[in-house]
Amino acid sequence: MFKQDDVKKLLSSVKYPEFEKDIVTFGFVKNIEIKDKKAFVDISIVSANPNIAKKVQEDASNALNKGGISAEVRVEQPKIPEQKSNSQSNKNIASNIKNFVMVSSGKGGVGKSTTTVNLALCLSKQGKKVGILDADIYGPNIPRMLGITDSKPIILGEKLKPITAYGIEMMSMGVLMTEGQSLIWRGAMIMRAVEQLLRDVLWSDLDVLFIDMPPGTGDAQLTLAQSVPVTCGVCVTTPQTVALDDAKRSLDMFRKLHIPVAGIIENMSGFICSDCGKEYEIFGKNSAKELAEEYNAPILANIPIELCIREGSDEGKPVAIFNEEAISFKRYADAANKILQTIEQINKNGGGDNSKIQPTSTNSACSAKK
Ligand code: ADP
Repeated sequence: MFKQDDVKKLLSSVKYPEFEKDIVTFGFVKNIEIKDKKAFVDISIVSANPNIAKKVQEDASNALNKGGISAEVRVEQPKIPEQKSNSQSNKNIASNIKNFVMVSSGKGGVGKSTTTVNLALCLSKQGKKVGILDADIYGPNIPRMLGITDSKPIILGEKLKPITAYGIEMMSMGVLMTEGQSLIWRGAMIMRAVEQLLRDVLWSDLDVLFIDMPPGTGDAQLTLAQSVPVTCGVCVTTPQTVALDDAKRSLDMFRKLHIPVAGIIENMSGFICSDCGKEYEIFGKNSAKELAEEYNAPILANIPIELCIREGSDEGKPVAIFNEEAISFKRYADAANKILQTIEQINKNGGGDNSKIQPTSTNSACSAKK
């Protein structure tokens, strides 16, 4: 006679469609019961897509049958209609935050963290309560960019107080790890850390939390979408073909996770000469246009290479605070505005976990709050 562990072991061979991890590792197998020599398995997935549910059901049944176990497999999906959902779950483990913006890129080094910092600061300057969760395990650079590398978060009981800089709250994966540790981080650890940064940090009642994701499309993205109703995603890319190919993967991931795309930021899209101030289109014009059309996502900004951006990042003096004259500042501000409009629109359409979101005053960041 087989046991629960035998069932679980066989289910561990079933990959969640389009992901590398299996359904057991993702925690989708909710219940296994054995009755009259038959296994009854309850699986709960995060996608509202019926094809995904069908595939999981078939793959799980086949795996068990092949292993000689007769089984009945039920797959549960989120009840929310797909077009209205912000990500796929009703769960919100940081329910005092009204909106979550996931900033992603297909690969590292394209300026995702720099963009996150400046977008967040531009929104904060408009009077919104803003935070940044630096979940980029491979390069948790946000503390340096905000000039707070030496600040340690205060521990209150079992919670962490976020660090404040330039009026915004911040918590970084870097705070949870020792130097060089990222190399040994595995999927499950990343997933736990993302959850911890949402649940165990005393975030204020923020209008918007920007989440600087690790590059690529993997465990952290899925965990985030499972843990909170992500309002929208922003994809950062550079104009070179290789980066654009990677950006596609990032946009595909938003699709898979049912996260509405606020738009694409094309970073390092040209070059501003610091002597004459002229903008040079060194990669040609509108390289990301095709990508934007393919994914029906607007280009939120073309941010040029500007010396003040690099210097500001290194010195902890972001352009959005210290270089209001810079062309990039105006473009960041414009992009932040567009993201805000998208958030308002999404909330108006009833997106997200609205059981925790209710109308607020007219000058708030969005048309809904806790
Ligand atoms: P990512 O988060 O994608 O790995 P970062 O935001 O850390 O990338 O940026 C990588 C480097 O490029 C940093 O030194 C940053 O200051 C610099 N950088 C990013 N965007 C620009 C830009 N538009 N102009 C000049 N330097 C930039």
